[in-house]
Amino acid sequence: MKNPKVLYTEEEIQLNIKLLAEKMNAFYNNEEVYVVCVLKGAVMFCTDLVKHLNMPVKLEFIRLSSYNGGTSTTGKVNAVDISLPDLNGKNVLIVEDIVDTGLTAKFLIDFLNCNFHTKSTKFCSLLDKKTARKADIEPDYFCFEVDDKFLVGYGLDFDGYYRNLRYIGYLDGDEFERA
Ligand code: 5GP
Repeated sequence: MKNPKVLYTEEEIQLNIKLLAEKMNAFYNNEEVYVVCVLKGAVMFCTDLVKHLNMPVKLEFIRLSSYNGGTSTTGKVNAVDISLPDLNGKNVLIVEDIVDTGLTAKFLIDFLNCNFHTKSTKFCSLLDKKTARKADIEPDYFCFEVDDKFLVGYGLDFDGYYRNLRYIGYLDGDEFERA
């Protein structure tokens, strides 16, 4: 298996996460937050992020999918498991790996708005691929704005692989021919 080319090192990722958490600590001012981690891609980011949050945190996990093992979205978001506690009156922070077309983010925000009257709903993404956007949505928080390349590592996969890398990288052409 090829080693992806490094885009962001472990050190860069961890530094940006700390800076992001500082902004969140200031915004929430010690109020309780329900952090909703979108599996599987956001698992590394979310678990590192919450370690730097100072307010009382409850951690929830949901599982969505819009890719079928390839490198482009099917355009249809599937809720594989979206069971959540009662979030009425709560601060909710959704944590994603990457906002690409924005369809997943829109699906989630609409889902929360339809089912709960939250105190606040914020959307946080490790990566923001602004140029690929189809839905009119912007993350409230993100660490890195990225080009429209297929990225892997630090939770992001290609065909299930590479999630365990400590860095974020990209693969060049040959590797994708397997998709
Ligand atoms: P969106 O709904 O915004 O188009 O895409 C959201 C999901 O698509 C992300 O949560 C992620 O699972 C997947 N995705 C989008 N871009 C990439 C990418 O560059 N690499 C990987 N591995 N997944 C991506």
